[in-house]
Amino acid sequence: MAVTKERRQELVRAIDALDEEANQQLDANRGRGLTPRFHELRDQQAVVEDVLLDELPMLAMSRCPFCGFVAQQAFDPYGIDGLWWRGPRAIREAEAPPRCPHYFCFTGALALARPIEVLPFDVEPGPEVPFVVPSILEHPGMRVVISSTPVGRHTGFPIFYYGDPIIPETSGLNDWGHHLWTSYDDGKPGGSAGRLLLDNECDYDLAPWVARGKVQYILPGDDTLTLRSGVDGCPYLDLPGRRVLNRISNGVVYPLDAP
Ligand SMILES: [Zn+2]
Repeated sequence: MAVTKERRQELVRAIDALDEEANQQLDANRGRGLTPRFHELRDQQAVVEDVLLDELPMLAMSRCPFCGFVAQQAFDPYGIDGLWWRGPRAIREAEAPPRCPHYFCFTGALALARPIEVLPFDVEPGPEVPFVVPSILEHPGMRVVISSTPVGRHTGFPIFYYGDPIIPETSGLNDWGHHLWTSYDDGKPGGSAGRLLLDNECDYDLAPWVARGKVQYILPGDDTLTLRSGVDGCPYLDLPGRRVLNRISNGVVYPLDAP
């Protein structure tokens, strides 16, 4: 059963408390090795993390423009303070979810409600507005599907890349908010690899891509995940927000001088 908001808050608080105490143990015993108490705390933390992970809802997030397959993803819709958004330490699911053979990668954007949470870890949620990476999308056969989902007070925009054929000899973008790309081969999880995305690779002027049919979209709140095309009525164009790859650290959004 999917976790309720209240239970999710309890689990996140429990994980943070165990993490904090473990870090205090580390600091207090620096240079003297790891204490039994440290291992005990980390073991307890792993148990609670597994519980939360098991109970994360599977969200129908995107739809393949070639075969109509609905891509589901274990996702934390309640905020950026949980495991899902812990960057290098992000924990997503025990097993990568099934995908269709056309799936390539998924990234995303996150429109941030202020004030920003002060968290015990950094979050890299992408820009605040949807974007595409032309070096991948320009390849014949590649398509992007943009959708929308709440993330606590914030608004998320999952951005999925599909291909028929998939662009060859290129690594996919890192999974949204993560430091790794979970690769798939013919719809089955392959391995994982890291790919650094640079700001100058991102294009925020989506209208031409939508007009060309390279970008399709699902309307916010559309439970049928119906794919839409065309610039008219597209809710993802010219949105306000920072057009830069954001990093949230201690309640501050970096880079500080972002457009
Ligand atoms: Zn497909």
